[in-house]
Amino acid sequence: MIFAMKPRALLCLLLSLSLLSSPVATQADALLLPDLGDASQAALSPQAEQKLGRQIMGMIRESGEMLDDAEVELYINQLGRRLASASPELGPSFEFFPMLDPQINAFALPGGFIGVHTGLIYTAQGESELASVLAHEMAHVTQHHIARSIAQQGNNQLLAIAGILVAILAASVSKNTQVSAAAMNAGTGMAIQNQLTFSRDFEREADNIGMQILSRAGFDARAMPTFFERMQRVNRANDNQALAFLRTHPVTSERISAGQARSAQLPVRMVADSPAFLLVREKCRVWQLGPMEAVKFYQHALDNRQFNHEGAIWYGLAVARLKLGDTAGAQTALNEASQRMAGGHPMLLSLGGDIRLRLNDYAGARTLFHEAARRYPDARYLAYGEVDAALAQNDQTGVAALLKPLSARYASDPALWQRVARQYADHDRLRYHQALGNAYYLQNKPSAALEQYQLASQAPGEDFYLRSSIEARIRELQTRLDEARKENGGKPLPRERWQAGAQPAGPLAAHWH
Ligand SMILES: [Zn+2]
Repeated sequence: MIFAMKPRALLCLLLSLSLLSSPVATQADALLLPDLGDASQAALSPQAEQKLGRQIMGMIRESGEMLDDAEVELYINQLGRRLASASPELGPSFEFFPMLDPQINAFALPGGFIGVHTGLIYTAQGESELASVLAHEMAHVTQHHIARSIAQQGNNQLLAIAGILVAILAASVSKNTQVSAAAMNAGTGMAIQNQLTFSRDFEREADNIGMQILSRAGFDARAMPTFFERMQRVNRANDNQALAFLRTHPVTSERISAGQARSAQLPVRMVADSPAFLLVREKCRVWQLGPMEAVKFYQHALDNRQFNHEGAIWYGLAVARLKLGDTAGAQTALNEASQRMAGGHPMLLSLGGDIRLRLNDYAGARTLFHEAARRYPDARYLAYGEVDAALAQNDQTGVAALLKPLSARYASDPALWQRVARQYADHDRLRYHQALGNAYYLQNKPSAALEQYQLASQAPGEDFYLRSSIEARIRELQTRLDEARKENGGKPLPRERWQAGAQPAGPLAAHWH
């Protein structure tokens, strides 16, 4: 378990890796690699794991494959918290993020970041199944399986880290399986693929601990072997979507029977799916099928009364119709859904607000979001909806009044700072560029952030404290970039492909050869 590699050598490899995939990540940002800890350490320190995880998160954000949907993100984090809070000894906090990817998979990064594919949510036959995969991934994190894999690799630890980074990038392009396969075939493809697969021992450990997490949180532990078994069955039926999970978490018959034996010792539970799970799964279905096919699917289900939950089916139909621009049809379906979900749900209200926004009924949208946000103060997407309606109305005073308390509460959310930027866009360059800088900074895009902070510092405006904080950020980012340049042998860093305000040039896949 000796991790003898000098961090500097490790950085060199990571640098060459970042060059290998050069247009993939923002090059300058990819060079800001974490200090992987002291050479005498047996594995990555928790701080180094955090840093590595954040770094990779930045690359994934850059890829544009992360799903930008506050409702899905909130739901998977609530589900994750439900699992974590029943096992307080798990310690480090977890951050779950949705990936727009039809493949059935989830993956854990060092530092507690867990990516959840929409394909996994869509195919889960119940909330316990989805929770079982999250619990399994959480166990990979708490048992430091990535750090331990690196330590166990002996002389090959560099390849392991490279493998992890490439695997994550491959995971994020996996929608395009051809490109993914091409990446795997190129050069050290096979070796990398072997590195990213967890050992059977680690899988067994993640199953054991994951099952305990699952059961303690009140879910049915049998969901885990049931899910694995279904994946194996689906794989035999040649459904490529199941391959991703099986490739990174090898499932064997032995593993399934071990899981069945273990879950038989845990209490049997019939757990009802939460309304949030039912609604989020339909959202994922609409992405998976596309709105046209989804409308057909829902109409067929309603005509033949083939569904588990009629309200969720009507909700999915409303989402699909709104995507097709059919606002009247969406409203009708939403009304049907609301009648069948007696307790109500913030996602239903949010969809109602979105329909109003699409109709350019900004006042109606604002009232709706305002009342909904008061009823569900923890659903931040409702508060943001109210801000968006006020921005559309061009109500400067109203926007300022709404954003003030939100900036205090959600200061670490880039989506909040993007709205603050819109607030100042046409009359205050200082605060506009500062807010954009904050958004990029929080997204781990240091070069883009630095550019915005520099524009802010050149803009007119009196505000001593704001200016001091901007100058401090500029110094911090310049230090980080200087260190990266030093690691790059004094050569200047390539200019960022991704420019502030512009969309990423294209999906990762397009650049992968
Ligand atoms: Zn696993």
